[in-house]
Amino acid sequence: MAFEYDDSNIFARILRGEIPNDTVAENDHALAFRDIAPKSPTHVLVIPKGKYVSFDDFAANASADEITGFMRLCAEVCAKEGVGLDQGNQGFRAITNAGSHGVQEVPHFHLHIMGGRMMGPMVI
Ligand code: 5GP
Repeated sequence: MAFEYDDSNIFARILRGEIPNDTVAENDHALAFRDIAPKSPTHVLVIPKGKYVSFDDFAANASADEITGFMRLCAEVCAKEGVGLDQGNQGFRAITNAGSHGVQEVPHFHLHIMGGRMMGPMVI
């Protein structure tokens, strides 16, 4: 079964400029903005500009340019937010939720980059 993208999801609306966002960084292929309900001092969402439902959709179907653009924007966010290890910072957590078992709320692929505090164990 193919991945079915819902154009009415909230991140699609952000990409269309219908809803404001607190942008951290942007390039041709991806947008990074602050989570509306941050769970850590740094809580940034990185999304591809293409229509991908989930991590596995993006991994299977995005072009090399899209994947590179997305990953480089993640690196830019880590640097800008002062959590990247190359700057001698204390690090971060990058997670993505997929589908109902992953408890994904918004059906447009996104990576949460969270830092600025000690994270708990990965038991959620
Ligand atoms: P998920 O559970 O899908 O991995 O995470 C969705 C995230 O999107 C949540 O952390 C939630 O706070 C965030 N979110 C939901 N609606 C909005 C919105 O309109 N703007 C922003 N910036 N974040 C949102």
